[in-house]
Amino acid sequence: MKKVGFIGTGVMGVSIVRHLLKKGYSVTVYNRTKSKAEPLIEEGARWAESPLELTNQSDIVFTMVGYPKDVEEVYYSEQGIFNGNVEGKVLIDLTTSTPSLAMKISETAKEKGAATLDAPVSGGDLGAEKGTLTIMVGGEEETFNQVKDILEVFSASMTLHGPSGSGQHTKAANQIMVAGTMTGITELMIYAKRAGLDLEKVSETVNGGAGRNWSLENYAPRIINDDYSPGFFVKHFIKDLGIALDEAERMGIDLPATRRAKELYDQLKDAGYGNDGTQSLVKLWWNK
Ligand code: NAP
Repeated sequence: MKKVGFIGTGVMGVSIVRHLLKKGYSVTVYNRTKSKAEPLIEEGARWAESPLELTNQSDIVFTMVGYPKDVEEVYYSEQGIFNGNVEGKVLIDLTTSTPSLAMKISETAKEKGAATLDAPVSGGDLGAEKGTLTIMVGGEEETFNQVKDILEVFSASMTLHGPSGSGQHTKAANQIMVAGTMTGITELMIYAKRAGLDLEKVSETVNGGAGRNWSLENYAPRIINDDYSPGFFVKHFIKDLGIALDEAERMGIDLPATRRAKELYDQLKDAGYGNDGTQSLVKLWWNK
């Protein structure tokens, strides 16, 4: 069985590593804050002191950190992946990052005899917990086929969208859609509450008709229960919308609705809610 390295044991990483351990993989982990990896170490994961050390001990290296700058750091810093022995290995970035960084990593890897995939995911913290994530992949088909079995351990579906960067482009498109469903659910809640309706009944009814969507199914219950914990951090959604808007601008497209969604989330972060879950957008209107 291939030896797996996993860098970034946050909300998503912890659940994914847990699935890999349960499946019997030998997993080495590294995270900036070691305490977040400790439950996994107790469950059988090994700890590495740096991305470099982790790379030397692994056949496949996963990264799932926060921002593109974090991806850049774990790959290119002195103690980074690329200063380890990467020859013949597969490097898979699950972080939502930029298409250009995915292409740069792929180029560097090629020079060093390694293969890469950009493989951002969708499905949220619950998707990671249940092992039912959707994976959007960019890279070579041969590499994809080589690691399908391990990606299957924590996903319900995966699709190769094209060369390096295509996974990140697909994720950007996904986040453009989610910008719409998150602002939609927020304004639905504000309206229904002001109209004196039962929020639970309203979301159930809407989910039975044409308004049905993942955000409403998964986040309406959290809003109704006053649960604003992440889930998916506001600060990360702002990062994702920034990536989508930058890429759109580069391609000469204007996305006014996505731009407005980002403005609202920026406002939410400025109000101090950057570390809440994205369902906390309702707080711009009501602060219970
Ligand atoms: P998170 O809880 O912040 O996890 C990120 C982890 O990466 C943290 O534990 C962090 O360490 C670690 N990290 C960051 N920079 C690092 C570095 N330079 N070296 C080592 N470790 C580093 O975030 P998350 O919710 O798991 O999300 C991770 C990524 O997946 C993000 O790009 C996010 O946009 C994407 N994503 C999230 C969801 C979701 O619903 N949560 C869904 C799809 C995609 P510290 O503990 O020190 O902060």
